[in-house]
Amino acid sequence: MTGIILFGTRPEAIKLAPVIREFCRRTDRSAFRVISSGQHRTLLSQNLTSLNIEVDANLNVMMEAQNPSETVNRITTALQHEFTDKRPDWIMVQGDTATVFAGAMAGYLNQIPVIHLEAGLRTKDFHFPWPEEGFRQMVSRITTLHLAQTKRSKQNLLAEGIEESAIRVVGNTGYDIQKAIHVGKTDPQLPFDIETLSNFALITIHRRENLGAPLEHLCGQIKELMRRYPEMTFIWPKHPNPGVVTVIEHHFADDDPRLIICEPLDYMAFQKLLRSSSLVISDSGGVQEEAASLGVPIAIARNETERPDIVELELGRLVGRDGHALIEVAADLMNRPHGTMITSRDRWIEMQGNGCASVNTVNAVLETFRKQD
Ligand code: UDP
Repeated sequence: MTGIILFGTRPEAIKLAPVIREFCRRTDRSAFRVISSGQHRTLLSQNLTSLNIEVDANLNVMMEAQNPSETVNRITTALQHEFTDKRPDWIMVQGDTATVFAGAMAGYLNQIPVIHLEAGLRTKDFHFPWPEEGFRQMVSRITTLHLAQTKRSKQNLLAEGIEESAIRVVGNTGYDIQKAIHVGKTDPQLPFDIETLSNFALITIHRRENLGAPLEHLCGQIKELMRRYPEMTFIWPKHPNPGVVTVIEHHFADDDPRLIICEPLDYMAFQKLLRSSSLVISDSGGVQEEAASLGVPIAIARNETERPDIVELELGRLVGRDGHALIEVAADLMNRPHGTMITSRDRWIEMQGNGCASVNTVNAVLETFRKQD
């Protein structure tokens, strides 16, 4: 059995790191190749060492102004060379990015079985998040083995006519790594001192569909929140996307000591911050999940989420892409009793597989592909 594990962005690397570790524990390292598309060069290189990921090949597809169609084209072309050199028995992709779509498409066109990790997440709106919702749905049509995080994701796949025998509910590998670092003794360095901060909100914004007018309005709402909560500090690790950076710089040019704007943090440092936050404001998929796993309330800067369990468990609430409901929601979330948050958090963690998702993932792959050897 030989496989390819492909990733290209920070969240994919984070969620695949424990899977790669588990493959290393269970199989010979020569049984699979780890390939990076290089879609997010800087955010990836910042994290690969601390995630302990050894990359066998880098396709280096990142360009100055990335357009999804060109990115997909560059990745499929580069993968075609990889497949010609050494044909794998399967290719594993994780999530919903251009790398995932290109990897799945290249596999399908070469009749190489595609394994999709995090299969079945849906907003059911092709435009939000764009193009990720379309990528996920299209990848499901050409996937051989669907590895779903939850029963709800499995139901989404069944509703689209995917054969039940091709779906396995494995849990969320993002929770596996988060759990592993919590029990570890690492104390990552932050570019500022959080020991003196008793009450802070953490902000991350990067979604394409939030750029422009929605982000402008959201910044106004964050300023209003800062006015209403003078005792709180706001920490914003900014995403390198120029569309985000320009708007932040425009709105928050003054040196307010209660607003710390910093460069993207490495995963370990980000987790340290997340764990101590009073509130998270984010449009990220991964950060939604991680805040829920820690019982930290999250105001989701979107109109809809593919993780509705978080909203149903009241661990987080939608505030709109433009943050129109932020003020009201932030007050409600921060007033939720601690005990209720803990109960909801524990329920969420159980739904994510309690930290066994990577073991379940490798089991599913070995069972499926060893049978075919
Ligand atoms: N993250 C990080 N440093 C940061 C901000 C986020 O390591 O400064 C991590 C975060 O812990 C989560 C992942 O990046 O695991 C989420 O990635 P992103 O928000 O870019 O993408 P999404 O999850 O929306 O696909």
